Amino acid sequence: MRINVSHQLKASIGSIRNYEVSGIVNVAGGKSMVQGEVKLMRTDRSILAKGTLHTEVEVTCSRCLGLFGCPLTLKIEEEYFPIKDVASGASLLLPEEPGCFTIDEHHVIDFTEAIRQYALLAIPMKPLCRGDCAGLCPNCGHNLNHGPCDCSPQETEPRWSELNKLTLASDAVVNKQKGTE
Ligand SMILES: [Zn+2]
Ligand SMILES: [Zn+2]
Repeated sequence: MRINVSHQLKASIGSIRNYEVSGIVNVAGGKSMVQGEVKLMRTDRSILAKGTLHTEVEVTCSRCLGLFGCPLTLKIEEEYFPIKDVASGASLLLPEEPGCFTIDEHHVIDFTEAIRQYALLAIPMKPLCRGDCAGLCPNCGHNLNHGPCDCSPQETEPRWSELNKLTLASDAVVNKQKGTE
């Protein structure tokens, strides 16, 4: 995910180039194929990169705990600052922004770190393998996406009916008390 921008650093401000990029990036402990287009624009102090990249990361479904490939679209917009002047080779002062992205001494932009950061932000907080994921049986832990489990409905229902009886009974007591008043 590297582009040599030495030509563009020498070009006039406002000059734009489009690149197709693809490569493997390590996101959240797994290797992901990343593909897309990046537009690079020369500014008075940097190269502004704008692009839309597509990737897929393996995440754990928050309902059934199964692993699945979650597609991500990354809308990247970042400024890359040269650390060396392309003509003179002199060191350049970087802006006082912590963690700002740089163009290395060989005039190469490496998008790996930006992609990693954008991908981590794009992963949903509660990923679902599919919208109607059936989840796990609360009794035996069986993944209900693979079909029903052996826990028969009769096994879980009595608890609920006992609970209903209790509620009904306490209601009855309340009603009785009210009646005597
Ligand atoms: Zn799931
Ligand atoms: Zn079960």
